[in-house]
Amino acid sequence: MRLLPATDENIKTAAALLAAGGLVAFPTETVYGLGGAAFNPAALVKIFAAKNRPRFDPLIIHIAAPETLDEVGDLSLLSPAAREMARLLTRRFWPGPLTLILPKRRELPDLATSGLPTVAVRFPDHPAAQKLIRLSGTAVAAPSANPFGYLSPTRAGHVREQLGERVDIILDGGPARVGLESTVLDLSGGPPRILRPGGLPKEEIEALIGPVAPGPASAGSAPEPPNPRSPGQLDSHYAPRTGLRLCPPEELAALPYDPAGAYLFFGAASRDRWLAGPGRSAVPPEAGPGSGAEAGEKRPAPVRTLSETGDLTEAAANLFGLLHELDALGCARIYAEQVRGEGLGSAINDRLFRAAAKRTP
Ligand code: AMP
Ligand code: MG
Repeated sequence: MRLLPATDENIKTAAALLAAGGLVAFPTETVYGLGGAAFNPAALVKIFAAKNRPRFDPLIIHIAAPETLDEVGDLSLLSPAAREMARLLTRRFWPGPLTLILPKRRELPDLATSGLPTVAVRFPDHPAAQKLIRLSGTAVAAPSANPFGYLSPTRAGHVREQLGERVDIILDGGPARVGLESTVLDLSGGPPRILRPGGLPKEEIEALIGPVAPGPASAGSAPEPPNPRSPGQLDSHYAPRTGLRLCPPEELAALPYDPAGAYLFFGAASRDRWLAGPGRSAVPPEAGPGSGAEAGEKRPAPVRTLSETGDLTEAAANLFGLLHELDALGCARIYAEQVRGEGLGSAINDRLFRAAAKRTP
């Protein structure tokens, strides 16, 4: 495995490797992707194997320009209304964190779509990703570059730690700007439906094309406090190794202090209120393990904050990085505060909710 800065020269090398059937992890604005040539079944098999991803979980196909959408999707099979929505959405939100589910072209291998007659397609908003795909001369299948079910990678270092030698080249293009996976919108039949909340808020989609249906129950939109779903019924995903407990702000404030835990707050306001509670006043806000503590001495629980000002865009960008950081500390449990449910907040809560659904072995 070679970890290379995303220079023009290195992108060229990586593109040649992709074209030859190799695996390249590359930066996008959402999270790092694990790319393989979309029309090469052997490369697709390698993606599933490297991630330990079940074959029934289809891949997102990344294209280098909207004009090449026809290579993977067949828009002629859409209703005129859906075709018009696809046109409006791609014009407004591509390149960007929006994946569209469309009828698939026959030529695209069944492996890419797990046998479905539809394809998930996206035009990423990152210059290195666009250049890589264009130079490779092929559409690129690219799920997130992490082992299946684990936290998504928002930095090249996350990919190196998680996939290591399973990937041929990792292109380092800096931290992911959005930090959340794309919003997946199904236009393939019936009313448009969000299958996964993500980096493009539902409100922005609805402002353009009108009401969209919420996803199926298994898509795991975060529970609203009065009516929480049973986490045991949901698939675990986006999960750290450390057990995670997701709490509405009031619940987190009322829990007894756990010195063996780690805490992830949405903003400074709730964090500081919490710090003022019993037994917590001495805990420095951003303490890591062992900070100022001698061997055997009690250490304060680490505390992190998604966004000092409670800004959802900043919180989204910091989410996976801070979870990676807390997960590496070896604490007994991570307590995470639920964020405001509007805009990007619904995707942030979705990821935290699924992280909390992890079953303890
Ligand atoms: P990932 O690539 O790991 O970010 O995940 C891709 C997401 O897109 C998964 O939730 C898939 O189930 C979903 N997806 C991909 N292709 C399709 C499809 N043809 N129909 C519905 N969902 C899809
Ligand atoms: Mg993923």
